[in-house]
Amino acid sequence: MAAQPVCASGPGGSGELAAGVAMAVVVMKFGGTSVANVERIRNVCRHVKREVDAGNKVAVVVSAMSGATNQLVAWVREASLLHDAREYDAIVASGEQVTAGLTAIVLQSMGLQARSWQGWQIPVITDKAHGAARILDIKGETLRERLDQGEVAVVTGFQGIEPERNRIATLGRGGSDTSAVALAVALKADVCDIYTDVDGVYTTDPRIVPKAQRLPKVSYEEMLEMASLGSKVLQTRSVELAMLYRMRTRVLSSFVAPEAMQPFRLDGLEDIGTIVCDEDEIVEQQVVSGIAYAKDEAKITILKVADKPGIAARVFGPLAEANINVDMIVQNITPDGKFTDMTFTVQAAELPRTLEVLKSAKESIGYNDVMASADVVKVSVIGVGMRSHAGVAAQMFQALASKGINILAISTSEIKISVLIEAPYAELAVRSLHSLYGLDKD
Ligand code: ASP
Ligand code: MG
Repeated sequence: MAAQPVCASGPGGSGELAAGVAMAVVVMKFGGTSVANVERIRNVCRHVKREVDAGNKVAVVVSAMSGATNQLVAWVREASLLHDAREYDAIVASGEQVTAGLTAIVLQSMGLQARSWQGWQIPVITDKAHGAARILDIKGETLRERLDQGEVAVVTGFQGIEPERNRIATLGRGGSDTSAVALAVALKADVCDIYTDVDGVYTTDPRIVPKAQRLPKVSYEEMLEMASLGSKVLQTRSVELAMLYRMRTRVLSSFVAPEAMQPFRLDGLEDIGTIVCDEDEIVEQQVVSGIAYAKDEAKITILKVADKPGIAARVFGPLAEANINVDMIVQNITPDGKFTDMTFTVQAAELPRTLEVLKSAKESIGYNDVMASADVVKVSVIGVGMRSHAGVAAQMFQALASKGINILAISTSEIKISVLIEAPYAELAVRSLHSLYGLDKD
């Protein structure tokens, strides 16, 4: 997937000296649970004040209060299941507007200069893909000037403006992370701090494996795999963008007492949260850094298709046209060599559409039957160290076999191995692999 272009258009550069201390430009993003009510917003503002008091220039990016976007989406659906995408965006973008205004008011009440900004006011320019728009450019000059004058800019995440039709556009669910990274790039920030309700990125989900550990650092590549393989900490697109622009991004908890945390300093990052950074910055690189799992997979098997050239194209062509992403693919051979079964996975939410497409392409593909199951889970082992270490896959398959876990499909990349297994075995698989690769905390 191509990362989106963002042009840095601010005057940029930080590191001016004020009383001998280098000031940094810091983007602080707060997710829905961090701004769930006015009390939580007050807490967030104390985090902001800590940075301002230390001399940092701060731009804040906020999400809608938790649950707000879901409510807005529900109202849209209630109004009409088939709705205009531009109006959908006009409605769902409003959640962030409320949070930004409230945050600015609370900051002002704490004696800080603050002003809220919506996407169209900056502006954050997007393409036309309403509901899943990409940021094309952020005109950062005005914000940067305000920051230089000591004002805190509070920016709505998740939204921008599509200039041709002059309409609000949203970036897709979880898009505030991407707004934050893009703004950090445009402002030439020194760091993009993403505050959430967990204190960093973990080797795996701590709710499943209590022995999971916080990763002090993780590379862009690994984070990208983790984000797209089910770790919900950062929106995948935000990681793509951070990687493209080498924007150092931290994942931190807003639930830690604001005054107990050190402000950001150019000369060193505290050992808090997780820093998403270049591979070279990570000294003690493990072979495997994390285990991810994704429950929202569905498996489809097409039975008895002809084993001859062109069949795969006839199966996957119509799916691509319908914009359905296929992930893992397995093709078996039947004993007579003339026919084969084909298994692949899609997002569970896409299962009904996938079955529709296959049904209407039945004649052109030529198959006997289709079987489908959403009771499957994809478990993935991720680590840049795999590039230089052989045997990671063999170990993984051996470990799963010894627990009696059957592998339904496999896919790999340079830095990850994914297996599809039956859903009831997911936790056992994640736990076994976590200890197999030495990730358990003592
Ligand atoms: N409020 C939007 C959502 O819930 C964007 C975000 O929180 O990142 O998807
Ligand atoms: Mg989020």
